[in-house]
Amino acid sequence: MNFEINKLLQDEIIPFEFVANNTDFNEIEGEVDENGALIRGTIEKLSRDTFLVRFTIEMTMIYPCARCLEPTPVDCCYEYSDTVMVDDGVTILELLPIVEECVYINEPFRVLCHEDCAGLCPKCGVNLNHEQCDCDKSGDVDPRFEVLKNLL
Ligand SMILES: [Zn+2]
Ligand SMILES: [Zn+2]
Repeated sequence: MNFEINKLLQDEIIPFEFVANNTDFNEIEGEVDENGALIRGTIEKLSRDTFLVRFTIEMTMIYPCARCLEPTPVDCCYEYSDTVMVDDGVTILELLPIVEECVYINEPFRVLCHEDCAGLCPKCGVNLNHEQCDCDKSGDVDPRFEVLKNLL
């Protein structure tokens, strides 16, 4: 969603509401699910080049589980409230880059499908939440410690 800066009146508060889809974003890690992201807020022209932008973003994002890589939905609700300055000569205020920035800085650091996700077998790679494998896990030693075992 864009605003023509010259058409905004000083101190007028303009509400907006739009839906952004996954293809609207380039920089974020997660994927917006098929319902898209609902963005609702207001914009207010404080001076010729300064705007107060406030909005909330509601959406479901899909992230790979940090242990088993299974796509995992995460409900997100982020809030933004800040003044935005535009450079001389800029005539259009674009909201989408501001929205993307807000999502980007709020993204979760580590997503798990379940708190006790069993992860992938380090030897054959099967998803241990769904199936068992015959790999011998008794002798499992982190390769970094293998050298210590030989010293004992
Ligand atoms: Zn998992
Ligand atoms: Zn295995």
